[in-house]
Amino acid sequence: MDPLLPATSCKKLEAWLRYYQDLNLGDFYKDRKTMGKRSVKSAAAPKKTAGQSMPAPAADMSHPAAKALAAQVLPIVPAPTMFGSLDRVEGDTLERIREDLGDCTRCRLHEQRNKIVFGAGSPKAELVFVGEGPGRDEDMQGFPFVGRAGKLLTQMIEAMGLTREDVYICNVVKCRPPENRKPEDDEVATCSPYLYRQLDVIAPKAIVCLGGTAAQALLQTKDSISRFRGNWFDYRNTKLMATYHPAYLLRNPAAKADVWKDLQKVMAHLGLKVKKASR
Ligand code: URA
Repeated sequence: MDPLLPATSCKKLEAWLRYYQDLNLGDFYKDRKTMGKRSVKSAAAPKKTAGQSMPAPAADMSHPAAKALAAQVLPIVPAPTMFGSLDRVEGDTLERIREDLGDCTRCRLHEQRNKIVFGAGSPKAELVFVGEGPGRDEDMQGFPFVGRAGKLLTQMIEAMGLTREDVYICNVVKCRPPENRKPEDDEVATCSPYLYRQLDVIAPKAIVCLGGTAAQALLQTKDSISRFRGNWFDYRNTKLMATYHPAYLLRNPAAKADVWKDLQKVMAHLGLKVKKASR
């Protein structure tokens, strides 16, 4: 990878390129040098379109560093980005995504995993729950949220008047992080393209992020859960609500009331009625 790019960008780029390879989209920059030159030219006379960020001001092209950049740095063009324009996959299906994932060894999480936990539930679900990553029980069984936190999630879903079969449940990373640690940024960057595709295919009416990791991955931010919780956000034209992770609720049962408030907002959006207790 290009030593001029920051390490995090390299990792992200690597993950995306692997993802596009999986889709058989072929090489991006066979004629890389020509692209570099063209892009620098367009950066020298940038056209600003509403809502787009401007490329950096034109560099002095006689400078050796600028020449090196022209040859090696991927272009920033004033047009839809590579990621923005190509990231919806025509005719995609959950089966195809699972096939593309294969017996994944793309990040270090594969080393200690037992089973890949792809996701479970209805491919036509109006509601998708996104967790952080499989725990011990999930890793053994290959299904999301089947341990203690999963039982609580099942209760939450049932309190909404739904079953687990009505919704879809998946995670940001598909392999268990050792000792249930938080997934690292590069692991999230490697795995999340598969999550994005799952969400594109299912096209739910609402996404509920369980905990900060899921919200951060989908909203592309490092802000903490306290900033998101209970508010609606837009994820590619789908309403996204973040709430506390069921594992957090097991440790802090008092926070269940907040989660119920959040889920009631989701129910209102989906047109679900809260059942009144019968006397
Ligand atoms: N925690 C998660 O985030 N996901 C699971 O699947 C199980 C526990």
